[in-house]
Amino acid sequence: MPASPRGAARPLLTVTAPAPPPAAITLLLPDGQELRVRLYERLQMDTGLWVFRIGVPLWQTTEGGGVEPAEYGTWVTSAQLRPIPGVALDQVPTHRNPAGRAAATATPWVWVLDGRARPTTVHAEGCPLATDRAVPVKTMDALDALGQPGTVACTGCDAAETLLPILAHGQEDAHAPGD
Ligand SMILES: [Zn+2]
Repeated sequence: MPASPRGAARPLLTVTAPAPPPAAITLLLPDGQELRVRLYERLQMDTGLWVFRIGVPLWQTTEGGGVEPAEYGTWVTSAQLRPIPGVALDQVPTHRNPAGRAAATATPWVWVLDGRARPTTVHAEGCPLATDRAVPVKTMDALDALGQPGTVACTGCDAAETLLPILAHGQEDAHAPGD
């Protein structure tokens, strides 16, 4: 009696998981350091800009003078983040903004690579944040560029929202070491 996967009882381990665990992602610090942090959710603002809530693992002192694990929480944009190869981000809770989504879907999937920006930035074509030195690139070339250290996806257009999840997925097959 072949049981269809959909009809079968769920394995016990998957029943109690109301919220996915935070995804690991790399945070770029102002001084150039990189930290592996926790990505909890992403939120789209009225402007269409996406912001990301992260938790940075830290230590803190206790009243008794000891040290215990703590976490510093904050919101950043994709400019401060870099996907970790092999870590999918599609399970991260995502809160779209209707106005922002309309703005995003109106943007065609044509990208420009701004090599004069610091850091090098991928934009959707027509993004006002791109300099006049930006050159058109195909989607695959944009993804290749984002795979290079020091290249980021703009959050002022839909480059970050669209390309970063694809990049994370594409690298799942590469089996790159996570460290
Ligand atoms: Zn842009």
